[in-house]
Amino acid sequence: MTADGVPTGDRQASGGGERQQPRGVTIYDVCGPSQDPPRLRRLPRVVAAALGLVWAAGPRQLLAAAALKALNGAGVAVLVLGGRDLLAGVLAADRAGAAFSAVGPELVALVAVTVAMGFAAAAGQQLQDVLGELTARHAQERIVEVACAVELEAFETPAFHDRLQRAALGGQRRPLQAVQGLLGLAGGGLGAAGTVVALSALQPLLVPLALAGAVPLWMAAAKSGQVFFRFAYELTPADRRRQYLYGLLTGKEPAKEVRAFGLVGLLRDRHRRLYDQRIAELRRTARRRMRLSLLGSLGMSAVLGAAVGGLVAMALGGRISLAEAGAATGAVFVLGERLMGAAISAGQLYEAAPFIEDFLSFLALKPTAEARRSVQAAPRGFSRLVAERLSFTYPSGQRPALCDVSLEIRGGEVVALVGENGSGKTTLAKLLSRLYLPQSGRILWDGTDTATVDADDLRRSVAVIFQDFAHYTLPARDNIGLGRPESIDALDGIAAAAAQAGADELLARLPDGYETLLGPEFEGGTDLSVGQWQRLALARAFFRDAPFVILDEPTAALDARAEQELFARIRTLLGGRTVLLISHRFSSVRCADRIYVLQAGRVVEAGSHAELVARGGLYAELFGLQAAAYLGSDDGPPGARQTASNA
Ligand code: ADP
Repeated sequence: MTADGVPTGDRQASGGGERQQPRGVTIYDVCGPSQDPPRLRRLPRVVAAALGLVWAAGPRQLLAAAALKALNGAGVAVLVLGGRDLLAGVLAADRAGAAFSAVGPELVALVAVTVAMGFAAAAGQQLQDVLGELTARHAQERIVEVACAVELEAFETPAFHDRLQRAALGGQRRPLQAVQGLLGLAGGGLGAAGTVVALSALQPLLVPLALAGAVPLWMAAAKSGQVFFRFAYELTPADRRRQYLYGLLTGKEPAKEVRAFGLVGLLRDRHRRLYDQRIAELRRTARRRMRLSLLGSLGMSAVLGAAVGGLVAMALGGRISLAEAGAATGAVFVLGERLMGAAISAGQLYEAAPFIEDFLSFLALKPTAEARRSVQAAPRGFSRLVAERLSFTYPSGQRPALCDVSLEIRGGEVVALVGENGSGKTTLAKLLSRLYLPQSGRILWDGTDTATVDADDLRRSVAVIFQDFAHYTLPARDNIGLGRPESIDALDGIAAAAAQAGADELLARLPDGYETLLGPEFEGGTDLSVGQWQRLALARAFFRDAPFVILDEPTAALDARAEQELFARIRTLLGGRTVLLISHRFSSVRCADRIYVLQAGRVVEAGSHAELVARGGLYAELFGLQAAAYLGSDDGPPGARQTASNA
């Protein structure tokens, strides 16, 4: 593991073949930083990183904030020292019987400093709001970079989602908190230094004693920061579950089912229970932190109390004057107050530190992911794809989703995958489109192992539409144009793809045609039917200029006529491109050059429709069952009846 808590071991040999990976463990399972209290020696590195992050987000604002803090610190020192001079001046004037005007200029100067400090505080607050937003944006951009760099596999692991969530917590607010802590410490330090100077002039012996008061405060701040991070860390999974429930209760997509099934009460109860747990845990954490801060300030008060006791003893013993004792006691109390302020800043620093370490370790996933990534160019075009003995188990899977799967797809062919639910068809499509790497076996694309080439480059040659394709809440034209982002403005091509997918008429009927926003939750938006969305998704695949097209249940939501038309014209529609069709409807893939039948993650049969029917195996059995279901049904669609009887 690196210092950032990121593993150095590469369990994913980029050359394909056997990938030794403990079941259910991925690089994303690394929990991030140590949960030990952030040690003093680690603090400078964290603070430097926090400064770097805030500097990158808003350098001018950071400088201005630091300058204002310095002004404030200097102002405090001036007030303490000026106050002492003023007091001395008043005493001298009193003894000399001089007029009040003798100390007038000092008084005016002190008032001016107070006003300037008030202005600096107000300006600093506004500046921090802006700097906070800039830092949050910077952090969010870095988080997005990581999320886009990691393999899809990351999104299959709870650990990655926990880390993502904590990174948002740690990156958006905590760097600025650390910088504020640092600036507060610097400001408080300046103020304390001024007081220490004043105190040393009055009674040097008191200085080390008074400063010792800072130690318990500092220790309490360190422990308290650790306690809070542990709270946030341990509650992340429950927080995610709670936020998921909140999404169910407030989101557009689940809203209809939540109402139709009357789920509101049950979901709200579960949401409330998770919130109750969080609040109970927060209370426990707050009590612990309160005890810690009480101990810290008790320790400090005891030390400062001893210092004041010493002063009183010296004054009573006649070793110092009453005025000196009074001034020194005042200085000790001011110092105590400064130290408390510094302790609050140290607390901010210590509270932010583990979150920042966690955030940094999350950011380190990007170089790790990039180092694992091949930069070799992918083959252009498509002549032959051979899958050899592929096996794959999902990170959270209990058993392999694919086992020893081999197949071949030649340029220009239409090849079909059929099989019952859960037989591994979609998983195979994910492997062939290089969204996942197999744990064993390899995929040769025109002779090149796809595990050895740049995945993004390879995916440029693949157009894949999964059954759970995305519904983009964007204008209709973008829902097609996103198939080829570099040509998103090519309206003619978009319209041609829409026509191929049978979506042109429906788009023309929309209020703003192709410009219509598809999402009723936004002003001017509207929605489509499930089948209409599917036509758009198909159009997106057609628009993509890729030689290899994978359509996973492309007609699941289409009406019988549209389905029939699509399969009958698939070769013409896709203009000789190579097609992998996935369906659990056996009748729909009869046109394929070759059909692979999957069962429990294995290819159990392969051949043309006629060959498979003649063979009398699983395909023939399932095809027969589906055909009988249509034939036996009184209200079965005539098209299906026709299709089945043609078999
Ligand atoms: P099909 O497309 O044939 O219906 P899939 O390829 O989607 O089947 O699924 C194959 C197997 O993998 C199933 O047993 C399913 O439960 C499992 N599976 C699918 N997706 C995941 C996932 N993201 N995590 C864990 N297991 C999964």
